Amino acid sequence: MTPAHQGRVAIVTGAASGIGRATVEVLISQGARVVAVDIDAERLSWAAGDDRVAVVTGDVRFEDLNSEAVQVAIDRFGGLDATILNAGVSASGDLLEMPIERFDTAFEVNVRAVLLGIRAAVPAMRARGSGRICVTASTSGLAGDPSMWAYNATKAAVVNLVRGAAIDLAAEGITVNAVCPGPTETNMTARVRSLPQVYKDLRRSIPMQRWGSAEEIAAVIAFLASPAASFVTGVAIPVDGGITANTGQFTPREIQHE
Ligand code: NAD
Repeated sequence: MTPAHQGRVAIVTGAASGIGRATVEVLISQGARVVAVDIDAERLSWAAGDDRVAVVTGDVRFEDLNSEAVQVAIDRFGGLDATILNAGVSASGDLLEMPIERFDTAFEVNVRAVLLGIRAAVPAMRARGSGRICVTASTSGLAGDPSMWAYNATKAAVVNLVRGAAIDLAAEGITVNAVCPGPTETNMTARVRSLPQVYKDLRRSIPMQRWGSAEEIAAVIAFLASPAASFVTGVAIPVDGGITANTGQFTPREIQHE
């Protein structure tokens, strides 16, 4: 069987670690060549020296960086089939006290940069006659969390950006989708995971009773970025061990079997 991404070219942002790195790894293992983008040059160095990967270091908040990534995809690998807009930052804090600049930064990275990534990618995808855009949103974009209103707002915004963009691009064969990971073991969640009680409580709130891995999120991204997902557009798929399936009204032991 031909590997799902054989001969295809993708961009992955936030590729230095976590879900982005796992996505680069699964895409190249399935035959793709990938432009790996991140602001953290040191962590991104894992990708250097592999001729299936081109490394671009910079801040996704800048239009030029997004254009550069697309140009590298064209110059090094001959075009662009998929772009995975995964770079993101968390933001939590007191509703009244958190500096407004942190709110602005979260929106710049988690929402505005996604729009810049889409705008940069579409002309190259039009040249190919099709394309796949996949954004890493979050279960936190589908409902609220304590002290995470800023992050909640950015991820909800990006989910609806995906839906709207999907409609505008649908007739051209360019799909736009999101994955909504639940708690996933990456650098972003290292601090939370270092607090044993918080880690355990969160684990207990997940119907599967465990955190997800970056590889489990990357597997769904790889599907959405593949030719097989040709009739899927405008969706936000939870990859969350059942969190969003659960109303959370009962704990399992409160349910009485009649
Ligand atoms: P991570 O911290 O391991 O990876 C995020 C990457 O984004 C980092 O390498 C970071 O350097 C990069 N980045 C941040 N700002 C950037 C910028 N301005 N320009 C370029 N690169 C930048 O964390 P992760 O969990 O792999 O996060 C990936 C995505 O998944 C994020 O969008 C995050 O919001 C989302 N997400 C994570 C979880 C989780 O539990 N880990 C849950 C839901 C959604």
